[in-house]
Amino acid sequence: MPINNRIADFHDEMTEWRRDFHTHPEIGLEEVRTSAIVAEKLASWGIEVHREIGVTGVVGVLRGNGSGTGTIGLRADMDALPMDEEGDVPYKSQIPGRMHACGHDGHTTMLLGAAKYLAETKNFDGTVHFIFQPAEEGRGGAKKMVEDGLFERFPCDSIFGIHNAPHMPAGTMAFRGGPILASADRATMTVHGKGAHAARPHDGVDPIAVGVQLYQAVQTVVSRNTDPLKSVVMSITQFHAGTANNVIPATAQLIASIRTFDTEVQDMVERRLTELCDGVGRMYGARVELEYLRGVPPTVNDIDEATFAAEVGEALVGADKVDREPAQAMGSEDFSIMLAKRPGAFVWLGGGAPGKDYGLHHPKYDFNDEALPVGASFFAKLVETKLPRG
Ligand SMILES: [Zn+2]
Ligand SMILES: [Zn+2]
Repeated sequence: MPINNRIADFHDEMTEWRRDFHTHPEIGLEEVRTSAIVAEKLASWGIEVHREIGVTGVVGVLRGNGSGTGTIGLRADMDALPMDEEGDVPYKSQIPGRMHACGHDGHTTMLLGAAKYLAETKNFDGTVHFIFQPAEEGRGGAKKMVEDGLFERFPCDSIFGIHNAPHMPAGTMAFRGGPILASADRATMTVHGKGAHAARPHDGVDPIAVGVQLYQAVQTVVSRNTDPLKSVVMSITQFHAGTANNVIPATAQLIASIRTFDTEVQDMVERRLTELCDGVGRMYGARVELEYLRGVPPTVNDIDEATFAAEVGEALVGADKVDREPAQAMGSEDFSIMLAKRPGAFVWLGGGAPGKDYGLHHPKYDFNDEALPVGASFFAKLVETKLPRG
């Protein structure tokens, strides 16, 4: 696998770090041990360390050789998921209900590997900001770091992040300009009817009957209100009502997950859901309350920065190992919040191998350590190419 030789020298060391993180997973905003290790390692290599940016977030600042004023941000996420690990690796999670099932242990390790190498070689002219983000998995880590003044305190002309991809062979990379991952919003629709005895429906307003109509009505947002050339998915994932066989309940609740690549579609979905909740409620003498929560925005790569990253990737792993047109996915990623503030790119790094092909968030998933030096070399090469020495 073509990688930076010096980084290859500490492949074993990186593997140990990664497995240690894997054994001690921490969920979002609770990355106390992980962030302490990150901070301690960065400091040991002479990198300036700033902690508690976004609760448990860490930023390392490294200046290269020369007087260049260019800046670059490299980001890794540190959090695990609230689930039990089912695999039987020797470094299996020791914490019940906690697991690195998305490979953020690998992301953190790759960025540490790049930091160690860059601190040692300083073969660049400008400033690198190593951004170790907490709470990617739905607990708002990127937002918290940005709100804590991430880009004001640590200016970044451009930013880059890597996500491992177990569906792509190890050693390959994929780059795409424009939207690459979807937004993720949540709509909670609460039907306020009127409870009654099951034998006397005419005394009440049955919220289940209204909820069923509402379920049907909202399907038309995708099928009838969305431009057929655009993508949106709306899944009603929860429908709660009732507690007893002989009671018509007073309320029912439907919860939907909504994903799209386009903020105009997001606006349209919110507007149509508002209208439909209001209209269906009136039709049946109930009141439907809508709470529309904007989660993360679509992950949109800057076209030029994605092209730049692809060129760096091709120089590293070879053009035959690079996919320049990977499919978009309806999953989401909160690096999108940083990408909405600064131009940059989120890239895929293959980690698939025989026996290592469980998907992200699978209870047997395990980051492929063979990908560590590739990701670390990619981060390092981004810096050396973006901020070349004069
Ligand atoms: Zn994940
Ligand atoms: Zn992830």
